[in-house]
Amino acid sequence: MDIATEYKLPVNEIFATLQGEATFAGTPSVFIRLQGCDVACSWCDTKHTWELNPKTFNNDFAVITVKEQDKESWSYVKDTELVDYIQTNFSYITHIVITGGEPAQYNLVPLCIKLEQLGKTIQIETSGTEELRISKETWVTLSPKINMPGNKKLIQASINRANEIKMPIGKIADIDKLKQFIIDYKIAKQIPIWLQALSQNPTATKLCIEQAMLHNWKLSVQTHKYLNIR
Ligand code: SF4
Repeated sequence: MDIATEYKLPVNEIFATLQGEATFAGTPSVFIRLQGCDVACSWCDTKHTWELNPKTFNNDFAVITVKEQDKESWSYVKDTELVDYIQTNFSYITHIVITGGEPAQYNLVPLCIKLEQLGKTIQIETSGTEELRISKETWVTLSPKINMPGNKKLIQASINRANEIKMPIGKIADIDKLKQFIIDYKIAKQIPIWLQALSQNPTATKLCIEQAMLHNWKLSVQTHKYLNIR
């Protein structure tokens, strides 16, 4: 495949809002949400991004850009088109978040490099179950998905590349899983560990606060959901 002319990514949506979670919370960001994920977390809040379903494929990228709610429709878009769209509509925003789905299913190096040439910073949100094909400077937010129904295994090299760990927490067993993950994958002490309550559940949030205090971890609140923005 000629990357220069044929490189395309399956895009579910592209929009600008504040990053709501972890280190970059409060940062104006352009979100590129890629289609496709086979991790199959039962509590996933973006199940509409799982399938590359030909029935929901739309050849018109413009349709993807005007979504106001979650929809399964997606389009194949050239990296150059994505960059042009960002420059035309959000040139003043310098932070780009590549999310999904599982964006690490794809080679993101060409897109990262083009965006960085324009002075953008890149962040990827990933499950740790795919090898990372990103630029050297890309910030990696790794949310380890352990023993999910998709039966995908965590990849040590991807975990080693994480700039921060963001753990979804629903119950105390998730804390135990996190502790074991830190040991098994030799997470360095300087890597920030964020606890994020599943679905803003009050009991889970209380647990996150208690455990963050106990272990000197951090609390990640999905601020965009509390603020009722995207
Ligand atoms: S890895 Fe992310 S997108 Fe995929 S199923 Fe889990 S929560 Fe959903």
